[in-house]
Amino acid sequence: MTHGPSPKVLISADIEGVCGVVDWDETTLHEGDHEYFRKMMAQEVNAAVEGALAAGAKDIIVRDAHGSARNLLPDMVHPEAQLIRAWTRSPFSMMDGIDRGIDAVVFVGYHARAGTPHATLKHTMNGKIYHLKVNGQPVAEAEWNALIAGYFGVPVVFIAGDKAVCDYAKERFADIETVAVKEGLGKGVIGIHPSKAQALIRAGVEKAINRLGDFKPHILTAPYFVEIEFRREEDAYAGQWYPGAEVVNETTIGFRNEDFYECLRFFYFTHD
Ligand SMILES: [Zn+2]
Repeated sequence: MTHGPSPKVLISADIEGVCGVVDWDETTLHEGDHEYFRKMMAQEVNAAVEGALAAGAKDIIVRDAHGSARNLLPDMVHPEAQLIRAWTRSPFSMMDGIDRGIDAVVFVGYHARAGTPHATLKHTMNGKIYHLKVNGQPVAEAEWNALIAGYFGVPVVFIAGDKAVCDYAKERFADIETVAVKEGLGKGVIGIHPSKAQALIRAGVEKAINRLGDFKPHILTAPYFVEIEFRREEDAYAGQWYPGAEVVNETTIGFRNEDFYECLRFFYFTHD
């Protein structure tokens, strides 16, 4: 794809994959050490913003994409970036802003999908879902969000998070730049120092955006078959009433379409 000399960058920021984060209470507004870890999240986001600026990016949008979507307070974020806070209720969700002429997507604080070994706070979107599958393959939030970017013709160029999600991203997105800030050890974690993580994120984002032409949007082969396997039967029961939804089994609903946007809409209105 072609892009100008000053690419426009969307940074989608989660928190489970931020340096040191190991427990849900650290990720939840007004709980545990969330006050501390929201600052770590902001510092990793700002390292990504600095890397993008160093590579010549001009317009940078940060999407707070975790929990309340109100982890990042306005003045925590780099002055050169715009911040999207709170859930807009659009199907783009963690990728709000992607429809604003973005050239490159960066993920910070990301985590592996439910069912991944040695992964920190692994899950897919929410606690109700066991697997989200596209064309038979279970996908992580990172891949679902990459498909949203792909729908708009935009590549994901960088991901920071735990080692499991970085390994996954390398397998699924070829030569994406990655920074693994920690690795799951049972319910615990081993990780690098935040200042080191931030330096690596800054350098990795700069490198990725400097070679933006190497990346391709992540697009799978249509027609798409999206399946949501819930942990509980009642959630699949409720979702089956979405127009065009198929009952796959008592805990799984599916949806087929040529247009990924229709799949996105199915997922948005049935999973929460
Ligand atoms: Zn999250």
